Amino acid sequence: MAIDRGKVIEAAASKLLERKYSASKEISAKEEIVLPGFVDPHTHLVFPGSREEEFWRRQEGASYLEILKKGGGIMETVNKARESGSAELLSISQKRLETMVESGTTCVEIKSGYGLQLYDELKILRTVRELRRTSPCRIAATFLGAHAIPPYMSQDEYSRVVIEEMIPEVAQQSLAEFCDVFCEHGVFDSTSSEKILAAGIQHGLTAKIHADQFTDSGGAKIANDIEAVSADHLVHSNVSELERMAKTSVTPVVLPASSHSLLSNAYAPATEMLAAGLPVALGSDFSPSNWVMGMLTVAALAARQLRMKSEEIIRGITINAARALRMDRQIGSLSRGKSADLVLLKAPSYKRIGYAYGEGMVDKVLIAGKVQVNQGKRVN
Ligand SMILES: [Zn+2]
Repeated sequence: MAIDRGKVIEAAASKLLERKYSASKEISAKEEIVLPGFVDPHTHLVFPGSREEEFWRRQEGASYLEILKKGGGIMETVNKARESGSAELLSISQKRLETMVESGTTCVEIKSGYGLQLYDELKILRTVRELRRTSPCRIAATFLGAHAIPPYMSQDEYSRVVIEEMIPEVAQQSLAEFCDVFCEHGVFDSTSSEKILAAGIQHGLTAKIHADQFTDSGGAKIANDIEAVSADHLVHSNVSELERMAKTSVTPVVLPASSHSLLSNAYAPATEMLAAGLPVALGSDFSPSNWVMGMLTVAALAARQLRMKSEEIIRGITINAARALRMDRQIGSLSRGKSADLVLLKAPSYKRIGYAYGEGMVDKVLIAGKVQVNQGKRVN
């Protein structure tokens, strides 16, 4: 790889590059493979605490939606997030982000959605803005005020707050590029979801959607109808809507870690999507209910649970994930002019991606040509 001023100049055989360029600095990737830095297009990174008790309850048979109805699940995290100060949220999130960078992630999308009231939604998005200022990792910010309905409000009442109070403020303060909604039976129905995303678009935000995770709730259809940038989860989507994505510009984001943590056997039909020619992206969906970090872990799950091939997985965690964030012109491949965001892996071949599970293959991570991780550890 030849890099200049943080950008990729050329990717070719070393001998050819040595003849063509004289480098002021050389980094050896002997016995390693070089890939574009991993892009995680779906996370809920900023929240206090964790919810292991709930995970173990789920293991005993309680479902996610049952736990939610009883005021557990997400509301537990929301209550803690409302009590948390900005500094506390920032320091917790910085540590998590560091772990992600050490696992090869160079770009991550982060959603709000644990405030569920204006003040706290803004607090979380400001934390995301601080992370962007303090971390070398590229960060995309998504407003997900419509993550759950507070138990003391009706769907219509809370949707009105999201549309009339939150979205205008988030847009006015430029705190997010994307607007997302958890479209699901028992959470936001398709009518409310569509209204919320339309309001986001009207305020200059780009639409994303949590679609059909537990049931076919019309999420994929909305994504196609409004040409959302991505539709995420897609476990129970109508097949005809998935096929329609070949004609719309919606990127399907598949989150196998999520099904895995829910102890569910239901996974998105990734091989069918690939057969239909869709640019399938993979994300971690890191959250208190899915404590899975790192795209090589996601790759291992995609190989085992989704039957995706190495090549498909690599595209899923690089260029297709960048597409889900509308960043595929800047990152996601080793093309001339793109940012030199790279991960160097101790692996004999790219076929290790998906095959290996938990090996700790990451040697170096470069973001815009600068070494951020060496021998698997952050350098300061
Ligand atoms: Zn999610």
